[in-house]
This record gives sequence, C-alpha cells and structure tokens, in this order.
Amino acid sequence: MKLNELTIKEAKGGLKSKKFSSVELTKACLEQIKKHNKDLNAFITVTEKEALDSARKADDLASQDQVLEAKSLLGIPIALKDLFSTKGIKTTAASNVLKDYIPQYDAAVVKKIKDAGAIIIGKTNCDAWAHGSSGENSDFGPTKNPWDKEYVPGGSSSGSAVSVASDMCIASTGTDTGGSIRLPASFNNVVGLKPTYGRVSRYGIIAMASSLDSIGHFTKTVEDSALFFNVTAGQDKMDATTLPNPVEDFTKDLNKGIKGLKIGIPKEFVTSDLDNEAKEKFEETVKTFANLGAEIIEISLPYTEYGIAAYYIIQPSEVSSNLARYDGIRYGNDRSYFGDEAKRRIMLGTFTLSSGYYDAYYKKAMAVRTLIIKDFNDAFQKVDALISPVCPTLPWKLGEKINDPIKMYMSDVLTVTANLAGIPGLSLPIGFIDGLPVGMQILGPQLSEVKLFQIGYAYEQATQWRKQKPAL
Ligand code: GLN
Repeated sequence: MKLNELTIKEAKGGLKSKKFSSVELTKACLEQIKKHNKDLNAFITVTEKEALDSARKADDLASQDQVLEAKSLLGIPIALKDLFSTKGIKTTAASNVLKDYIPQYDAAVVKKIKDAGAIIIGKTNCDAWAHGSSGENSDFGPTKNPWDKEYVPGGSSSGSAVSVASDMCIASTGTDTGGSIRLPASFNNVVGLKPTYGRVSRYGIIAMASSLDSIGHFTKTVEDSALFFNVTAGQDKMDATTLPNPVEDFTKDLNKGIKGLKIGIPKEFVTSDLDNEAKEKFEETVKTFANLGAEIIEISLPYTEYGIAAYYIIQPSEVSSNLARYDGIRYGNDRSYFGDEAKRRIMLGTFTLSSGYYDAYYKKAMAVRTLIIKDFNDAFQKVDALISPVCPTLPWKLGEKINDPIKMYMSDVLTVTANLAGIPGLSLPIGFIDGLPVGMQILGPQLSEVKLFQIGYAYEQATQWRKQKPAL
C-alpha cells in the first residue's frame, strides 16, 4: 500500500513505530497531487513548502513519546476547504472576489488542527462561497469526479471529497450548510461528517448562512471521522453559538455493535422521486442493518416536503446579509466579481428580507423550520437514529444541471432538513451503480455523534465498500 493511501489510524501507527516519517508521508501525498490535480482540479492552492517544513518539525517532535500522545494528528497531511481562513495562505472561497485575499489569522478549527500536529497540505476547490451541489460554481473551474471524470463530484465541498477519494491527503475539512459534506462524500465513496450545529467553531470560516453552517470533515473510515472529531469539537469563546457540552472521546462506542438499536427509515425520504437503482441499493443497506440486529422502524417526517422551500428562503436571506461585506472596501474586488449563483442568492435574499415580503416569505419559512425540528424531535422519541439516501439521484454529468438552478437545488432535498434542525449526519459508502459511488446518511438527535459513529462503524465493518479505489 502506498503511504498516501493510509487512513489517519494507519498513518499514526506507522509514524509511531517509525516505519516511515512524516516527510515521506507528506511527499507521497504531494506526489499524488502533482500527478492528478491537473485532471481533477481538487486543489486551488498547494502549500508544498509549508507542508514539508511542518513535516520536518513533526518528525523532530515525534521522537518524544509524550508529544506523540498529546498531538493526535502529528505528522498527518490534511487538506482544508478554501473557506477556512489560514494565516498567510491565500483563502479564496473559490470566488474571484477573494482571489488575492490572504487572511491575517487562522480559523479556530485550523488552529486546533495545527495544534494537534497536522500538516496543512493545501486549500481545496469548492463551489464559490459554498453555493452549489456539484462543484461547478467555482471561479477556478469545476472539480472532476475521480470515479469518472465526466461526472460531477458533488458540492459544495467538491475538492475536499475528491482529495480524500483520490488519496491526495489523509483527510480533509468541509462545511455543510445544506448537504455540502454529505453529498460529495456519497458521490466519492468516502465518509463525511456534518456535526451538530454549534459543536465546532465557525470562527474564521467564510460564512455562508450562519444559522445553518456546520463545520465538518471527510475521512476514509468512520473511525478516522471520530478521531478527527476529537480534535475539532468543542466550545470556542470566539463563536457564541458553540455548545458548552464537554467533549467526549468520540471513538468510545465504536465496537458496541447495533444489536437492539432502533433505526428509523423516514418514508418521505424514500419515495418514487428517488432513482430506482439508488433505491435498490438503499433497500439492500436496510437489510444489512437488520442482519446486524437493528430493529427497523418506518418513520414519518411529514414536513419534509417543505424543507427545500424553507431552506431556499432562509439560506439566501442569510447569504445576502453575509455577502454584503464584500463591497470592495475591505477586501478589494467589488461586487461585479461575484458569479451568477452568488448574485442570484443575494437578489433572492434581499427580496425575502425586504419590508412587505419579510412576513410572507422569511417569517413563514422560519415557522416551517420549527415544524421540521418538531418532526425530528418526534421521530427521535421512537428511534435511536434515522438512515436514508443522501441524494435522490446518482452523480450527474458535468454541465447537466448547471443551467437549471431549480434542478440543482432539488438535489439537496434529502440533506437540508438536518441543517434546518441542527442535527448531526454521517454520510458513508453503500456501494456502486455502474461504477459510480452511492452513499447513505445516518441522522441522530443533537449531540448524538458518538452513536452515529457506533452505527456507521458497525455497517462499515460488515461491508468494506470503502476499500474500493478509483482507477486514476
Ligand atoms: N447545495 C446546497 C446549496 O447550494 C448546500 C450548500 C452547502 O451545504 N454549503 O445551498
């Protein structure tokens, strides 16, 4: 196995036993980026020099056992979505507005990842401002799906998912405002975590829609996802919406199995609108859960059908407010640098917040949001977690939906309700259709990440889809 193909867990083991150094591991990832980034366009910026410098430092530190214990990501190459502010390193949000912007500080979560000893290998491509489901809204060109380069990799965290799927790094970060981690994870055969709203600090992450944004990551396994979350979760005084709950060891229940757990299938998520083959794959998955001893229960979330409408009012309203700061005064490059999708959302959001329309749209959408939260609360009285498909369709061809925003928005129909309710979701591989990956999401009540990892791990151990790699 090549070093860049390792998981966090495996890489930690190899570094600890001195089988290889962080410099060797980092070079293997950089090599892979050099070979394939031209085709895949997963990275906007590769920080080769900084990465090798930190890898050398990590190797020095690794000679002290107590440092290895304390720094849980020591020497591990991680890629960051280009929405994460990095001190001294260009941070573009994949938009021409910020094409030359160099932050003065690290986002809180970047600081945590660096303090844990990780090597920042580069900044990944995404839909500009995280607006999109396909990765095609980037001002730096679309990212390609490594499983078939004619297909979209999913968005908005397109490059983050692709960099992990194609072994250009060991893990990466992303943001999920309406599905932007879970959807690309499912299109790339990798694991994506969208944490509970407020579990990870948003300080220093370029804001999309502040009441929906959650900061998560992509990994090659469920165990890695839990290990990574041990580093990023926790309260931050710079983000007043972060939760005060103490951070537990998220790996603690991985081996518990799922015998006797109640798993709900939301019937409104598995309808005739779902691609037939994707539906069959999902049904196979449900059988695996039953074979593992879970009790399968059909659940109704009646307000699901209003999810997209509520999301596409609340989200642009917040977007229009957050993007108002890019007026050319503080960051240079005035509003003419915005792409079509950002302009569309600014106009929509300004309209839904304007006097006379606020009550008719924004306020009504907020009332629907409360009903969606209630749907989930009622469901979690009956079951421990829900499982569902992530996207109603398989990955589509580049260009197929880009001129039809409504069609594009509809690909978020199964993911946005979790953001409206602030609950966590774990997306993981459940197989392939015609060579393209399919995923599922496990949703739980707020702060149920330990349980999601427990359930995801049991399924992953029983199936091993993750071991399949794209032929690059
Ligand atoms: N696809 C959704 C949108 O375009 C979600 C984006 C996201 O989660 N950042 O709004």
